[in-house]
Amino acid sequence: MTDASTAPFLPGATAVSPALIDIGINLGHDSYDSDRDAVLARAAAAGVVQMVITGSSRESSHKAIELSRAHPGVLFATAGVHPHHATELTAELVVQLETLACTPVVVAVGECGLDYFRDYSPRDTQRAAFARQLEIAERVGKPAFLHQRDAHEDFVAILREHPRALAFGAVAHCFTGNAAELDAYLGMGLWIGITGWICDERRGQHLLPLMREIPADKLLLETDGPYLLPRDLKPKPASRRNEPAFLRHVARTVARARGEEVDQLAHSSTAAARRLFSLPEIT
Ligand SMILES: [Zn+2]
Repeated sequence: MTDASTAPFLPGATAVSPALIDIGINLGHDSYDSDRDAVLARAAAAGVVQMVITGSSRESSHKAIELSRAHPGVLFATAGVHPHHATELTAELVVQLETLACTPVVVAVGECGLDYFRDYSPRDTQRAAFARQLEIAERVGKPAFLHQRDAHEDFVAILREHPRALAFGAVAHCFTGNAAELDAYLGMGLWIGITGWICDERRGQHLLPLMREIPADKLLLETDGPYLLPRDLKPKPASRRNEPAFLRHVARTVARARGEEVDQLAHSSTAAARRLFSLPEIT
């Protein structure tokens, strides 16, 4: 079996089987500006066949859409405003986001949610911005891409006030919570996005036993690049920048924790991502 992380990179190499989908990559980030095409080539060589680019502000949502249009069928976008930027969500931007959310390459509304860990925006502003974006998801009939940190109670309360948004599906991206939080999310029908946080021996260990609790059809994989480079990745890139080609490393850790083969997890997580985001099938 070819191991993508050790195989030499061959331009145009056929994808490693089975395919993976990175459901959370900040590909518009300026750290990718100098070599974005090489990043995409390495992703393809590592069998990461499709990616959902996170839009987290007006600017990054536009950038995510622009990149997706340049790589049809491979790249897709979300359009939204991260809780850090909640104060930017004016009535005018709500209208603009709804227009963006209607474009075909946009497969989810968000990144939206609550972040009481950093508190970069006032909490009442965060709650309002979150609700406004769930309402966009309800109107356009697309899933929601959710962020939550240190705000579980309010997050769940606002989601429960928007059952029609939940009906179109939603993913708790970069899940780092505890068993009770996972239980609540699964109870609401959320998909769960797992990043390389789980590879962090200082703060991700608690996630390992939770992996068996997530039904295979609800478990999604993401790098959240350029952030969250898996701490146990060897060798580490000199840049310390994370990228989609490292997704199979995350998959291996999650598969081990679930007691299953990585190929099995690749199959199930790819199918789950396609179902949530209505992505076309490519091999
Ligand atoms: Zn996030």
